[in-house]
Amino acid sequence: MKKRKILELFIGSNNQGKLKEIKDLLPKNIKVFSPKNFNIKSPKENGKTFKDNSIIKAKYFSKKTGKICLADDSGLEIYKLNKLPGIYSARWGGKNNNFNLAINKVYKKLTKKDKNWKKKKIQARFVCALTIYWPNGRSVTRIGKIEGKISISKKGFNGFGYDPIFVPKGKKLTFGEMKPDLKYRIDHRFKAFKKIKIFL
Ligand code: IMP
Repeated sequence: MKKRKILELFIGSNNQGKLKEIKDLLPKNIKVFSPKNFNIKSPKENGKTFKDNSIIKAKYFSKKTGKICLADDSGLEIYKLNKLPGIYSARWGGKNNNFNLAINKVYKKLTKKDKNWKKKKIQARFVCALTIYWPNGRSVTRIGKIEGKISISKKGFNGFGYDPIFVPKGKKLTFGEMKPDLKYRIDHRFKAFKKIKIFL
């Protein structure tokens, strides 16, 4: 029997950067909705892992709308900071999700840990958990990761969040300097998406 394809999908994110990236990845025949269309706020993310939080979001939005929901929970793990900001990546930007504030916090924490950090390679990775949640309670989650290092200064104006300070392994430019098309084809979200797209 032919698998029934998803025709409508709710993307459970209020983050415009993520929404743009996810919409670009989806097949064009899928009609996409986001919290803006329904005037719904995001739920409390009180999970302990990216996976937990992506399930919390996907379930919450699916229950609120009755639609199949795709939600992402993602963040930056800096090994020298014991994998922080991690699941707190958005929260480091404060109430208004100010990415400059978050980046300054990264630099401050690194300096506190090691005042010579700028002379060293600060390894980090982006992690993304994507969950699809169906109204009947079924769900699937897939994880994508991309390794890299932290740039000693902010570079580039593309993307969002920590993009200006993350240089993926094997590349010279930060995600902030890269053309969005290139970033979208190599990053953590794309890798998770590649694994989950068979369910769409
Ligand atoms: P979430 O909405 O709780 O999953 O927050 C994820 C946060 O991680 C974002 O607000 C960004 O700060 C950061 N983040 C996740 N993915 C990316 C990315 O692709 N580029 C830059 N920052 C990201």
